[in-house]
Amino acid sequence: MIKKKDFQAILLHGATGLGVWEALGNAAAALLCETPIPAKAAILIPLPGSTQQACGQCPACRLRHAGNHPDLKRLLPEALALQLGMEQTIDHEEASTRAEKRSPSKDISIDAVRSLVDWSHTTSHRGLLKVALVYPLDAMGAPAANSLLKILEEPPPNLYFLTGSHRLGHVLPTLRSRCRLLAMPRPNAADALRALQAREIAQAEQVAHWCHHAVHEPEPSGGMDWARSLLQTATAGLGSAAASAPGPTPLMPVAVAALQKLCVDMMRTQFSQQPLYLPIDQAALGRSASIATVPRLLAFWRRLGDYSRTATFPLHASLTTEALVLEFRQLFTRSVH
Ligand SMILES: [Zn+2]
Repeated sequence: MIKKKDFQAILLHGATGLGVWEALGNAAAALLCETPIPAKAAILIPLPGSTQQACGQCPACRLRHAGNHPDLKRLLPEALALQLGMEQTIDHEEASTRAEKRSPSKDISIDAVRSLVDWSHTTSHRGLLKVALVYPLDAMGAPAANSLLKILEEPPPNLYFLTGSHRLGHVLPTLRSRCRLLAMPRPNAADALRALQAREIAQAEQVAHWCHHAVHEPEPSGGMDWARSLLQTATAGLGSAAASAPGPTPLMPVAVAALQKLCVDMMRTQFSQQPLYLPIDQAALGRSASIATVPRLLAFWRRLGDYSRTATFPLHASLTTEALVLEFRQLFTRSVH
């Protein structure tokens, strides 16, 4: 097993879909495993325990798989725990409150942090080390963060504190300054393709471009077919009112992100750069350059930025997505709006 030397809280940061949570989970597994084996994959991030990996067989690994290793504490917002299928991390009292009154919380509650602080001072059940996983570190208010700071300021012996964030700028500076920052690397093309194929994602090669190698996204191909169809219809008829409907419209956040990618590729094409997300549609992107001018694209890009900040509000979602499609088509009309 891994011996602990110096306590240092780790803050792993990177874009969504790069696998921050998965990497933290693997590190925790390797640290807690009682008979770890040498790591098989190349070491991309110098997380504690990364030279080894969990055996998957020992009592500690079995407890972890069952979700009840007493020396592992995972702190996630309720909504995220449900999304990741980790209901067991949710407090039962909180869960019943949720069923009655409210939608799942997107923040880590101060009560959850307090229970983590209490747990951090108990001795290890298995007589070895303990691991606290807190994710994402930006999902908590100031009171919860202040409570958490107690662990970081007076680190309990034998506790590894592993945390991650996709929005480093949103992590409270008091927390951030107590952590060692590690950047999550983006996988290379070959690794991204392998990971998508392992997930049995259709059109893996195209999807690898579309998600920009963020292969851990829940839906790495989200909005791709829709965006491609929009582009094809718009550039085939160039402003023709007869353009056919682009199939089922994705949810607003997915639609906004898809149009942002399309917009980036259209702008790159204008500047003779290779498309980043849809290299397969290079011809259509080239046709778009003849009419969707840079000033129009920039104006559209700015509006998409505004939409992306409100895209998760469900109110009038379908209405706004339709408006988005209209705006996109207007990029291709001959008269300026
Ligand atoms: Zn093990």
